[in-house]
Amino acid sequence: MAWYPAARKMELQPESDSQAAIVPTQFIMHSIAAPWTKERIYEYWAESTNLESHFGQSYDGSIAQFIGTQTRADANYLANRRPDGTGAVSIETASNLQHTDPWTDAQIEGLISLGVWLHQRHDIPLRICRTADDPGYGYHRLHAAWSTGGTACPGDARVKQFRDVVFPGIVARTTGQPNPQEEDMTPEQDARLKYIESKLQKLYDQADVLPWTYKNTTIDNRDMHQVVRDIDARVEQLETTGLTAAQLTALSNKVADALAARLAE
Ligand SMILES: [Zn+2]
Repeated sequence: MAWYPAARKMELQPESDSQAAIVPTQFIMHSIAAPWTKERIYEYWAESTNLESHFGQSYDGSIAQFIGTQTRADANYLANRRPDGTGAVSIETASNLQHTDPWTDAQIEGLISLGVWLHQRHDIPLRICRTADDPGYGYHRLHAAWSTGGTACPGDARVKQFRDVVFPGIVARTTGQPNPQEEDMTPEQDARLKYIESKLQKLYDQADVLPWTYKNTTIDNRDMHQVVRDIDARVEQLETTGLTAAQLTALSNKVADALAARLAE
């Protein structure tokens, strides 16, 4: 049982004693779609059987901890506790009802401090989770396997803050370096990228257009969306180069298969 010294300890029972142990390998951030204090978040978990997180954060940045970080909490679906015993540490943060507002400066500071502690205490690696099981830092909607049926949580504004301020802030405070190290792709991501590239390369050779690659790109959901947009743009260009409709359809299907396989992880 590990408790974050800077948090107010508000132990949630029976979950804190009854739920299985985990080895924490990830930190996943949420918005709770309610402008609640950490105390109100605790009451909400205590009075219901909802999907509790380890931590709760008020708009003023202050944090409460409900469950030890080496015990399972239930906010992240398949990442709560995997068959190998690893799991995600989670925080719910105060937000507006639609979780469209940005984190306050105080919330950002609190998230960075907690993120640093999790790295120091549990060796969570300083990278953004490349897959649903990959150790590192993330936000709820980053991977489909972290929610049932998809979620927008924590909202567009906070996803941008996570990438621009919160995660870089955790890295900078931990390492003294301003930017995260560029991460290598996993072998699976590398293989899928090469598959897409090979399919595109063939079509470009046929169509007598320049090769197109996505080398050295760390693929996550955001990047995959960018890949899809770029492919769409490329296909539009190809339509003017004499490719048949059947060739274009085949390209779309191949790319869609590869993307679906990646996003289904
Ligand atoms: Zn969430």
